[in-house]
Amino acid sequence: MLYNCHIHTFNEKDIARKYLPLGLVRLLATTPGFQTIGFLLNLLNPLTSNDQFRKYVRFIKIGRYKGQKEIFEECQKFYPVNSKFMVLAMDMTYMNAGKVPRPYMEQLSELAELKRAYPDIILPFVHLDPNQTDMMDMLRKCIEEWGFSGIKIYPSIGYFPYDPRLTPAYEYAEKNDLPVIAHCSPFNPTHNKGWPWEIKALLAGSKIPLDLDTCNRKRLCSNFANPLNYKFVLEKHKKLRLCLAHFGSEHYWHQFLDHPEDKDSWLLLIKDMMEEHKNVYADISFTLNNREFFPLLKVLLSDPKINGQILFGSDYYMVETKTTERCFGIDLRGYLGEKEFRTISYDNPRRFLGEISS
Ligand SMILES: [Zn+2]
Repeated sequence: MLYNCHIHTFNEKDIARKYLPLGLVRLLATTPGFQTIGFLLNLLNPLTSNDQFRKYVRFIKIGRYKGQKEIFEECQKFYPVNSKFMVLAMDMTYMNAGKVPRPYMEQLSELAELKRAYPDIILPFVHLDPNQTDMMDMLRKCIEEWGFSGIKIYPSIGYFPYDPRLTPAYEYAEKNDLPVIAHCSPFNPTHNKGWPWEIKALLAGSKIPLDLDTCNRKRLCSNFANPLNYKFVLEKHKKLRLCLAHFGSEHYWHQFLDHPEDKDSWLLLIKDMMEEHKNVYADISFTLNNREFFPLLKVLLSDPKINGQILFGSDYYMVETKTTERCFGIDLRGYLGEKEFRTISYDNPRRFLGEISS
């Protein structure tokens, strides 16, 4: 039995219509539109960033016409029977990317249905956004009525982790012993799609120096996700168990391999925070779909200061390659060996969830 600490099952109806520019979301939602993808991909290169487009194509390929149960079962088959999955919801309502076809609450109640179908296997996390007017009511319903396991936040879509509107949620998490997973990677295709000046306005009042010398939305939104922002959350909420998802991402793992001396590396910032705060975790989801990083993970796992805080996760179905789940479930396990794989996929997740004490 193992825990995959980071997967998604939301579907195409949960994607904001302007996730891609030029009305492409609407076009791709039709079968002929979708069939011309190969052609469009070439045509689009100069117009929009590829990773954004590719990510959306995955949303369509896996998430179209399917319910969360079917999307989940597609993932489940790659893992041993009785494996458990932390399923992270996603609210795209407040990222300046247009309308989301179905209300977020419907996504959550469908996720609650999935939890009822697999009560011991599905561990849902509710995505909170400080702009949700009913944020606390929704949180209580998810936890108290539906048996969700934790909270997820996604600052790249336009808010700081220490936004005061999130304080009651962190207090609730501390009081009820709930873990929080925070999306923490730079230059993310899922970011606030507003005008650069709108994003800059949202960034006003930052507690850390900002990278503002750009009109690139992805770069601007990286400011929200910077791991240093979590210091302010941890100062105030000492008992909070927090996972910084993706461990700095592929970008900073590459950078660390080429420039290990770079002090601004998010990989190193996160590692330092993990050493300082025993309740800070990092998951390897998405990032470790690249086999090049297996040795570095093994080295990090040999460090007793942090090896109790690294979590196994895959980020199903956000990663591109077809072999991804197999890469996470079999290749990585074979590479690390049973002992270390068990540390990240069983012992550490149980501590993160509060099933065993730290
Ligand atoms: Zn994810």
